[in-house]
Amino acid sequence: MAKKEFKAESKRLLEMMINSIYSQKEVFLRELLSNSSDAIDKIYYKALTDDSLTFEKDSYYIKVAADKDNRTLTITDTGIGMTREELESNLGTIAKSGSLAFKTENEAKDGHDIIGQFGVGFYAAFMVADVVTVISKSLGSDEAYKWESTGADGYTIELAEKDSVGTEIILKMKENTEDESYDEYLEEYRLKAIIKKYSDFIRYPIKMDVTSKRPKEDDDKELEDYVEEQVINSMVPIWRKNKNELTDEDYEAFYNEKHYGFDKPLKHIHISVDGSIRYNAILYIPEKIPFDYYSKEFEKGLELYSNGVLIMNKCADLLPDYFSFVKGMVDSEDLSLNISREMLQQDRQLKLIAKNINKKIKSELQSLLKNEREKYEEFYKSFGRQLKFGVYSDYGMNKEVLQDLLMFYSSKEKKMVTLDEYVERMPEDQKYIYYASGDSNERIEKLPQTELVADKGFEILYFTEDIDEFAIKMIMTYKEKEFKSVSSSDLGIETEEEKNETTSEQTENKELFDYMKEALVGKVSDVRVSKRLKSHPVCLSTDGEITIEMEKVLSAMPD
Ligand code: ADP
Ligand code: MG
Repeated sequence: MAKKEFKAESKRLLEMMINSIYSQKEVFLRELLSNSSDAIDKIYYKALTDDSLTFEKDSYYIKVAADKDNRTLTITDTGIGMTREELESNLGTIAKSGSLAFKTENEAKDGHDIIGQFGVGFYAAFMVADVVTVISKSLGSDEAYKWESTGADGYTIELAEKDSVGTEIILKMKENTEDESYDEYLEEYRLKAIIKKYSDFIRYPIKMDVTSKRPKEDDDKELEDYVEEQVINSMVPIWRKNKNELTDEDYEAFYNEKHYGFDKPLKHIHISVDGSIRYNAILYIPEKIPFDYYSKEFEKGLELYSNGVLIMNKCADLLPDYFSFVKGMVDSEDLSLNISREMLQQDRQLKLIAKNINKKIKSELQSLLKNEREKYEEFYKSFGRQLKFGVYSDYGMNKEVLQDLLMFYSSKEKKMVTLDEYVERMPEDQKYIYYASGDSNERIEKLPQTELVADKGFEILYFTEDIDEFAIKMIMTYKEKEFKSVSSSDLGIETEEEKNETTSEQTENKELFDYMKEALVGKVSDVRVSKRLKSHPVCLSTDGEITIEMEKVLSAMPD
């Protein structure tokens, strides 16, 4: 059967697409500036392997110029430009990304800094412009071409005049409507703010003619306007800056810009190490669990830069699983760009950095716990489970790192407490750290098994997650105190006298218990007298190390 092509109304489709991708019109500028930066990057990467090319950083820039009279905004770059064919295929086809192709072709080598990949950013221009004109001269070509479109009914391409290699994009701004003003995108202060907000770390200068006032030469009481070309973006990546110069907002902006998460980070960690290993890192502890955190799709890892150039999007080796929620980036001069990805994993420097980072995260979490308890509890709500998994996995090898970060709900304090706090409060006659497992705090509170321990005035930790008891079994002892489930047979509370009493009651009532055992055959293995009950007539308990709650988890696991 012949396959038919879908028909779509291009104008409507374009509008729908643009408006569903971007909630704010101002991002059109970010998209165009990113494309310009990519275009310059492409020359840079080409020059790395092409001896006939040199890359003089100073001769590459992007310029933004507004013309209020003509209502145009022009973005010029000294990038690689586009040939006629490239104009046709990259701008004439929605969702076609020349940059992605460039990255794929150069995957083995470079091109990692390039931002573009989806092939839709350019069309954001139509959110604010009626007509978009692109004049471009490709590197190595003698001819320039002009591409023009009103967004709706296709585009035209014709020969054009342009002296230097690069691209010029001219936006004819839309007329203001009753509820929408486009004038603002021609205002200097507004353009500056947008550039700062989105494109501050673009590596090449984004220039603009800025009007300022200064005293007149002949009469210094009067001011006159003068125009001066300024570089608007700071270019230097945030991680190369001095911590003292940065505000919380700067770090938050970076978190958003990098799309590390949609939440506001709970804490940032800025590390600059200059010793036997040299690296800069900005790490974040997110506030909320990423939506895919517990799914197979989730990939842990930090961005890895070598000398400011991104070489790996998610370097998993930099983070242990139990800190997989940490987001951020590492930049080190000591990693060689040419190193292949496989070699990188065994890189000694990388291992050292990972070790260093691990320590740093732990100490930051500890200081959060100590100094900003509320924030820590917020964090723990999201990622405490991951820490407990960390204790449990690798046969408890990480318990030293993690046990001080754990928290459980306390029967006595009616809030989350650490193991250290528990042990500090233990009365002298208390031998064990007691815990009780169940689905929720409310249900645990009603467990008959908790009565005797609570009656003695001992604190009980409530284990409401499957992993809790398994993790504790790996820790075994904390500050030399053993953990004890309130449902284990010997709670270490009964006196000798009470124990003797139990034994005699057991023999006295043997007949009754035998009868009960027979009635419950296959359901219980024994029926015994218990001294731990106060207001409840009966409770279930297990004999060995495995409690009923653990048995439930184990039997629910697939074989
Ligand atoms: P993306 O940047 O995700 O690839 P865009 O829609 O923003 O998608 O751009 C489409 C393609 O057009 C780019 O991949 C690039 O090949 C080309 N392009 C856009 N702007 C420029 C520019 N200023 N200089 C050179 N090529 C450009
Ligand atoms: Mg783009």
